Amino acid sequence: MPQEIGKVLETAGEKGYRGRQVFQWVQDKAAQSWREMRNLSMETKTVLDERFLLQPARLVRERLSRDGTRKYLWLMQDRQAAESVLLYHFGDATKDRHTICLSTQVGCPMGCVFCATGKQGFARNLSAAEITGQVLDITAIRRKDEPGFKINNLVFMGMGEPLLNLPAVVKSIKILNHKEGQNIGIRRVTVSTCGLVPQIELLAAEGLDIVLAVSLHAPNDELRNQIMPVNKQYPLEVLLEACRGYIAKTGRRITFEYALIKNFNDTKTEARQLAQLLRGMSANVNIIPVNSVNDERYSKPPMQEVYKFLEVLKAAGVQAVVREEKGSDIEAACGQLAGKVR
Ligand code: SF4
Repeated sequence: MPQEIGKVLETAGEKGYRGRQVFQWVQDKAAQSWREMRNLSMETKTVLDERFLLQPARLVRERLSRDGTRKYLWLMQDRQAAESVLLYHFGDATKDRHTICLSTQVGCPMGCVFCATGKQGFARNLSAAEITGQVLDITAIRRKDEPGFKINNLVFMGMGEPLLNLPAVVKSIKILNHKEGQNIGIRRVTVSTCGLVPQIELLAAEGLDIVLAVSLHAPNDELRNQIMPVNKQYPLEVLLEACRGYIAKTGRRITFEYALIKNFNDTKTEARQLAQLLRGMSANVNIIPVNSVNDERYSKPPMQEVYKFLEVLKAAGVQAVVREEKGSDIEAACGQLAGKVR
């Protein structure tokens, strides 16, 4: 934040107001080096170089999908790796054209069985600098080919469980929402969780006007226990009670994510159970035909089954959509990120 940078500069005998200028260079203009900051003196740049790390990660690979989705692999200072995904919404020439899917951890400890990140295990949380850096670096890279490029939507749905890294996630949201930085609208920020009840309560207390997305993926405990270990700690009844509390406290509806898995959770019976579970809640459902992570037990149903599932939900009065799949040919779709570096 500008004042934090200003305080550090002051301790080095520099003017505190320079913190605001540095923040604008880094966050708004996505500067990639201290040299670019033309309105700062050499002395200030020397202090900045001594006290701050401008680029906490470096790009090691960029992949481009047939549908225009781009996946970026970053290597951190300690040689840990994480990925981010840039999604384009072609055909929409208005303001919501670019969405970035951010990682918040290296790996993930939650162990959801259909998820490549979950299979990888957990290494560590990403810092706020490493999280915001994903947005700034992609912005700087894209501006070389697309002058004026801007990220419009942030979704914390990449590698990791965001609510296990809540302080860094909240700090990143505040930085990226700052008027003198990227200025990404707070209502265009989505934070996902696999269902950590205490952290949902903590997030509600932050008073951020964001969208909360809860990964449900099954309409009963018997099925959910099989694919999401978190359900044994916070079963559906407890989770949905926390969700109702979140809605009451924030006044925001919740998005429930439902990965549709062939011959597992994709019949009309499960669709009816799901509708019953969400009855009376201010919520909508994203149906995501599951993406393959080299495990034949978890494959996507035929599209006609997906739409039958959707129709049952709609007939029961649940707002639901089938989410468009993007980037699966480069393992950039939901559940496919693994941050592999040789
Ligand atoms: S789905 Fe999300 S919470 Fe579950 S293992 Fe993957 S990254 Fe972690």
